[in-house]
Amino acid sequence: MPIVAQSTETADWVSRFADEVIAESERRAPGKPVVVASGLSPSGPIHLGNLREVMTPHLVADEIRRRGYEVRHLISWDDYDRYRKVPNGVPGTDTSWAEHIGKPLTSVPAPAGSAYPNWAEHFKAAMIEALGELGVEFDGISQTAQYTSGVYREQILHAMRHRADIDAILAQYRTKPKARKVQQKAADAAELEAEEGSGAAAEDDGSSGSAGYFPYKPYCGNCEKDLTTVTAYDDDTTELTYTCTACGFGETVRLSEFNRGKLVWKVDWPMRWAYEGVVFEPSGVDHSSPGSSFQVGGQIVGIFGGKQPIGPMYAFVGISGMAKMSSSKGGVPTPGDALKIMEPQLLRWLYARRRPNQSFKIAFDQEIQRLYDEWDRLDAKVADGSALPADAAAHSRAVRTAAGDLPRTPRPLPYRTLASVADITAGHADQALRILSELDPSHPLTSLDEARPRYDKAEAWINTHVPADQRTIVREQPDTELLASLDEASAGSVRLLLDGLAEHWSLDGLTHLVYGVPKVQAGFSADATPKELPPEIKTAQRTFFALLYRLLVGRDTGPRLPTLLLAVGQERVRHLLGAA
Ligand SMILES: [Zn+2]
Repeated sequence: MPIVAQSTETADWVSRFADEVIAESERRAPGKPVVVASGLSPSGPIHLGNLREVMTPHLVADEIRRRGYEVRHLISWDDYDRYRKVPNGVPGTDTSWAEHIGKPLTSVPAPAGSAYPNWAEHFKAAMIEALGELGVEFDGISQTAQYTSGVYREQILHAMRHRADIDAILAQYRTKPKARKVQQKAADAAELEAEEGSGAAAEDDGSSGSAGYFPYKPYCGNCEKDLTTVTAYDDDTTELTYTCTACGFGETVRLSEFNRGKLVWKVDWPMRWAYEGVVFEPSGVDHSSPGSSFQVGGQIVGIFGGKQPIGPMYAFVGISGMAKMSSSKGGVPTPGDALKIMEPQLLRWLYARRRPNQSFKIAFDQEIQRLYDEWDRLDAKVADGSALPADAAAHSRAVRTAAGDLPRTPRPLPYRTLASVADITAGHADQALRILSELDPSHPLTSLDEARPRYDKAEAWINTHVPADQRTIVREQPDTELLASLDEASAGSVRLLLDGLAEHWSLDGLTHLVYGVPKVQAGFSADATPKELPPEIKTAQRTFFALLYRLLVGRDTGPRLPTLLLAVGQERVRHLLGAA
């Protein structure tokens, strides 16, 4: 028995699953490491939506590690699956990749210019890098390596011996159109699948030819494709005969020594639950309906002497603000894309704070600024001890793992300020440093590195996700026409601002100044609170701010004014506001 350390996180969903998984693991395999699993298919760029497949077991595994238990988090790379289709918009590929459809993903060439030996490795690499940055500790298992080295030999022979039992289980779930499909000849089935393009369900079940049902499919010895039909099998000798409908090749092999094929998906998955002793493996909504692989697997796993894992269904994770960007690129956002614009802590927090059955969106649009404000407020509450227990638990899961704290930005300045500064300075690091140092003159930045990596993420967000027409362009010359047309009140408010600039040149000072000018103009103190002021002051403030935006950036809106003023610089502000 491991030493049970007292967990500080008792209030959230992660902790409750950890309790359940530890108890179940002790029942099934006393004294053994707890095994949780995720499965990823490197059939193309691994979508950010698929990250929940990893983060859900990761958070639970991490909580179990924090309690002092040994945990294996398996990530099964389903890289021995067939190549189903050429994904759209992948750089370095074209329609000629279609000739590889039907081969294992590890036998398909990588996109042109890739540093990796094949298709699967190319897309795995990007995911592995993102998981490293996110602090996810895992054991990666290549199913190509497993199958082609004969690791599952006994399981394959066992499945073949019990093919009638497997067929009977699958038959309970086969829907009418599918039943019709399996009665067709293999050639027709292959054609049907080609028409459907991807996700054809037939090969998830295995095929029934004239020789009966087989849960195993060889990849062709000539063309490497899985468009093969098993025509004979002998349980005693393990001799298997197949023909290939793609190239006409056929041969007889001995399954007791043959390593170029795999169990069909609906049998493969439960076989691995049993083989690895998986106690926790969540799955997406698409896997959890009646007749789905998780449901059917729960019955098939018994044939392999195993048990179905605890498997919560997780809800869809959406993306906001990528639609326009991705349709032009033809791609989909990956975890790597998210980590270019947000720190790993923020991304971890999004997963930790929502139960798996709650859907949420990951923001690539303006919403990311609000999200960061919320995160910084929570960070401050945790620091002063005022956070609620569940919120504190989510925060703890976001900033550290059992192995320690994730690297953090030494001076985490507000993201929206960093984004504005990056927007206005357009890549001039020295300017950015000057502005950021003036935010709090009593505690200036000595180097931009103190604000990194958060500054780099905010800069990447501005450069890649903010449309050109929303970028801020500071005027070169004063708008003399507008300045000349100002009425006495407006001109007076601009003068008040100019008079106070030098004295108020910090983020707090300028905030006080820009809100204070309309109050003073209306005959109140700059320090007057909203309660002491008539509601018209709000209108006056809005009018004043719009005027300043017009004079500084030629539009009615822009970044928050105090930040904008600091970014523009005192001298240029005076120039643009018409100071003599
Ligand atoms: Zn062939």
